Amino acid sequence: MAIVLCTVAGTAAQERRITAREVVAEIQKQVGVEWRKETVDTFKAGNPDTAVTGIAVTMMATMDVLQRASAKGLNFVITHEPTFYAHLDTPEGMPESDPVWAEKRAFIEKHGMVVWRFHDHWHMRKPDGIEAGMVHSLGWEKFQNSENQYLFVMPETTVKKLAEEVANKLDSPVVRVVGEPGMKVTKVGFSPGAAGFQTETHALERDDVQVLLVGETREWETVEYAADAVTQGRNKALIVIGHVPSEQGGMEECTRWLNGFVKKVPVEFVAAKEPFWTVSEKK
Ligand SMILES: [Zn+2]
Repeated sequence: MAIVLCTVAGTAAQERRITAREVVAEIQKQVGVEWRKETVDTFKAGNPDTAVTGIAVTMMATMDVLQRASAKGLNFVITHEPTFYAHLDTPEGMPESDPVWAEKRAFIEKHGMVVWRFHDHWHMRKPDGIEAGMVHSLGWEKFQNSENQYLFVMPETTVKKLAEEVANKLDSPVVRVVGEPGMKVTKVGFSPGAAGFQTETHALERDDVQVLLVGETREWETVEYAADAVTQGRNKALIVIGHVPSEQGGMEECTRWLNGFVKKVPVEFVAAKEPFWTVSEKK
């Protein structure tokens, strides 16, 4: 009798699906940097002990991404950016009854989904997982500085041509540029996401950065600084790519990495859509 019970238990153990919590424990083991106590890389919604049917890796767990992940049977979402409109996923000053926030929470619960954020430690990897994925998407490995992964020296181009190349390669319809379109460029800095005023202006101050690429930035901070530098006749330009396209390739890289060691469930990249469109001249 005992043997039979043992066998049944053994079979059940083999068939038991991995939980979201167990996937995260494996990520923590594999990531190669010490796990921080203070981090935004935590569960944001759902029960971590849910059995995983499939993993959706995304740049941002938008409603649209959640719907498409769920339709594909992927109930565990690994997102780089917040789910609930704030760095700590608690939108300041928003009542829980807010209809958009409430509907999103209800969707996750109704479909038995779990959402976990993977931001800090993916950036902390050496090389930075986001930067590595973006350099791969841009095909800029050969231009990258071996000491500083955020700096590039490329064959001479212009600000306009560089902006067009980035818009095409990253599929961003809303690239915006501060600076002279015809300015000649060889030295480029790439700061994905939203690194903020200090990081961005320190990059623009450098002699080895003529053009800085960013995801998003405040128009009354870094954008004004870049505009002033241009007015003063300095050889500087700023290209604002859009946050999603500036980091998306980094989460495609994360999907490839996860597929290297998560074998029991499917791991798929679910692209977040660029939220903006813009008025442009028809060619
Ligand atoms: Zn990021």
